Amino acid sequence: VKFVLSLLLVVSNLHVQAYPKVHIDTLIDFTADDSAALSSELKILQKILSTDTFWEAILNANYYCANWRRLHHYRRRNAQYPKWKKDKHIYSSKEIQRLLWTGDDEIGLPKDGLINLKLKAKDYEQNKKGLTRHGGTDRNTLIISSNRKTRIHSGKKGTYACHLLHEYMHVLGFKHPKSTPSKTKKKCGGDDVTLTVQKIGIATLRTLN
Ligand SMILES: [Zn+2]
Repeated sequence: VKFVLSLLLVVSNLHVQAYPKVHIDTLIDFTADDSAALSSELKILQKILSTDTFWEAILNANYYCANWRRLHHYRRRNAQYPKWKKDKHIYSSKEIQRLLWTGDDEIGLPKDGLINLKLKAKDYEQNKKGLTRHGGTDRNTLIISSNRKTRIHSGKKGTYACHLLHEYMHVLGFKHPKSTPSKTKKKCGGDDVTLTVQKIGIATLRTLN
């Protein structure tokens, strides 16, 4: 009995210490070049997710505005994933940390400890104001589209990795209170969940270099 008990302890300790793993579920329109860039950025993302200071920062961060998971409420009725009821729960930093830590997305198995990503590489046209989108997450398919030029091949290590972290918070259902993320900060008095997590990723990366 003692042996079994200690074995159980070892197993549960391992479980406690296991950082979530990045897992690619789907790749769309990735060229050989895009895939090479992705593979080095995924290593960076995994490194960030395997750093204790990242998780402490997630836990200690201030998340401004209401942190409802409402993105999935605006789904089409016959979307690939079910339409959610309008979320009224305001997530604490502990809950936000758990969502990320357990990989509580709708792709694959629930809470599988995997950061499941469906990725698409895309070329964006400039809009009338001369601005270019960096990417976005489709609420119906959970596909993350990323700008080849400004994100996948940004020329700066970790930019794409931290962008994926931002988009993954959308995959989990967090939504910008304003359609333009830059206006969200003005409305909330600070960064919302997605922007905060992205910035913590960037800050963590600096400590790793
Ligand atoms: Zn966003």
